[in-house]
Amino acid sequence: MKEQIALLIDLQKIDQHIRTLNHKKQTLPEKAGELDQDFQTRKDRMEDDRRGLEGLNALHKEKESELKQGQEKLRKAKARLLEVKTNKEYQAMLAEIETLEKGNGRIEEEILVLYDRIDEKKGSLKNHEKDFEQYRGGYEAERKKIDEELASIDGELADQKKKFEALVPGLKPDVRRRYEMIKGRRNGVAVVSARNAVCCGCNMNLPPQLYNELQRSEELIYCPNCNRIIYWDEDVNVG
Ligand SMILES: [Zn+2]
Repeated sequence: MKEQIALLIDLQKIDQHIRTLNHKKQTLPEKAGELDQDFQTRKDRMEDDRRGLEGLNALHKEKESELKQGQEKLRKAKARLLEVKTNKEYQAMLAEIETLEKGNGRIEEEILVLYDRIDEKKGSLKNHEKDFEQYRGGYEAERKKIDEELASIDGELADQKKKFEALVPGLKPDVRRRYEMIKGRRNGVAVVSARNAVCCGCNMNLPPQLYNELQRSEELIYCPNCNRIIYWDEDVNVG
């Protein structure tokens, strides 16, 4: 029976490995999707920021050309001033020139404010770009790891299943049946060690008589509390 227990322990290890692999196969694509979504959100925000700067630059260009037009109008008005005949016309031209000068002054102020806003935006964009590149590096590494893991899972699963099938012929059919039954009821763990008279599956104390029997027995022994197959863990008990 010792060798049956040893087989069961190996079988259970493979079973657990298969469970872990299947779990990963299910959850990794979801995790990858979340990473991609987060990346896209940050990328969009980055592009919004770039567009913001482009918008300010375009506005700056617009204001510069507006100012140029205003200066041209002012130049023409000043030229016309030399040609006016009456005092009334002269006063009207002066008023027009004053309005044009005020308008141009306003545009110049707007341009100065825009310079500040553009400088500020350039600075924050530069920081944002630096942060984003750092984030992108992490994202790409993590994403690559997931892809590699996913690509290797099927091969690993096939390997584990082959190992499993190789062990099965050594098991007595009734031992295998019991193992499968307990595994189904006990969340995948059917075989547990007993250390210092405690069942490692449920942490209950084992009756001394049962624990003694466990060290000698040729039969399968079950924990009276959780009904798992228990075995005497020599390494631990001796130490
Ligand atoms: Zn137990």
